[in-house]
Amino acid sequence: MRLSPYPDGKAFAFTIVDDTDGSTLETIRPVYEHLHSLGLRTTKTVWIRPPATSDATADSEGDTLQRAEYREYVESLQASGFEIALHNVAGASSRREEIISGIDEFCRIFGHEPKIHIQHEKNRDNLYFDVAQDARRLPSSFRSRPARAMHSLVNRWLGRSSAEGPQRFACCGEEPESEYFWGDVCQSRIKYVRSNVFLNDLNTIRRSPQMPFHLARTPFVNYWFDSSNGGDRERFDALLSERQVSRLARENGCSVLYTHFGRNFTEQTAGCRELNRETRERLGNIASRGDGWFAPAGELLDRLLAFQRIAFAPFSNGALLHNSNPFDVCSCSLWETPNRRLYTPAGQVFTPNAKKRLTLPSLKSGATLLLLDEELFSALRPWNGNRSCALAGDMASVWRKLRELLPDVEGTLRRMKAGHA
Ligand SMILES: [Zn+2]
Repeated sequence: MRLSPYPDGKAFAFTIVDDTDGSTLETIRPVYEHLHSLGLRTTKTVWIRPPATSDATADSEGDTLQRAEYREYVESLQASGFEIALHNVAGASSRREEIISGIDEFCRIFGHEPKIHIQHEKNRDNLYFDVAQDARRLPSSFRSRPARAMHSLVNRWLGRSSAEGPQRFACCGEEPESEYFWGDVCQSRIKYVRSNVFLNDLNTIRRSPQMPFHLARTPFVNYWFDSSNGGDRERFDALLSERQVSRLARENGCSVLYTHFGRNFTEQTAGCRELNRETRERLGNIASRGDGWFAPAGELLDRLLAFQRIAFAPFSNGALLHNSNPFDVCSCSLWETPNRRLYTPAGQVFTPNAKKRLTLPSLKSGATLLLLDEELFSALRPWNGNRSCALAGDMASVWRKLRELLPDVEGTLRRMKAGHA
């Protein structure tokens, strides 16, 4: 028996995080219209305003919330269920006060703090960039102690043999003495930051099973998450191949597919701009799978995080679950349950479906739930309950009553035996 983090017994989870580089209203509208028509709710990042500093590059080009039509369109995406996230406040370095006023503006427009932040290029205000872009510094994805030890040994050796120093970039968002410092703001206002590590596997948690994760040496980032590398149209379409999607479902995986929808995903044909045919088909293919859970990245990461705080212990006659989250967790699925009903000690009954999946409507905050099969459930009794078999106990009671009613029955039996002798 095992616990699945996806709601409603779904087999896998899929989302997209769209880096806003190069995006304009005209280039992204066909993409989001298609995603919306397929019921795929994903995460789109935004810039608040154009770059103020001279380190802007070609990658800094694209619409910002200062263009009214674009801002209204992004607001309509949020109203349709898409998540809006931050991609730094601008496409080039911003100073502390510019960052704070930019996040304030985000809140005014969207009605909430950005839950997710994606770091752009080498902006000076990026946080812990030497950690964020180095896969060797991230927690090992190995689970066994020998493999973990080997992993850290190899990393230490690679670190020593590298000619580059530990601080390869001039990013300093975490340094309090820098004019680009905003680590404390990130810590108090943003929950998740994407690492800049690219994973070439659609199933992101296969390579990063610990995400979202906190690192003690990067305290201003509450939780990091990793993503799969669909950085451009070719990589995006390749990762959404039939083979990768089938494997994602088979492995009960979770995909956070990172991309830039502003880069060549749409084409101008016969006077109107459309999403290219291949991407359209690949998105249609994954969306048509009834066993997928499609939610924005923030919702998906919240769910993974909540399930890190649910302890689960299966045993031969049932299972035990404990929810240590400060909130109730709804729709918890147990997979490969035995083909029989499971009971709580209070007598609540749960019946697995034909696929041996059992869904618990809600796991209360702080609650421990014990599920027992029928054999163990029927063995439960209060301290003064009869410990012998019910029929044997009843026969013994009848015998005692008979002896009370006929006090001399033993004497009579003795006399009858003596007479025979
Ligand atoms: Zn970017």
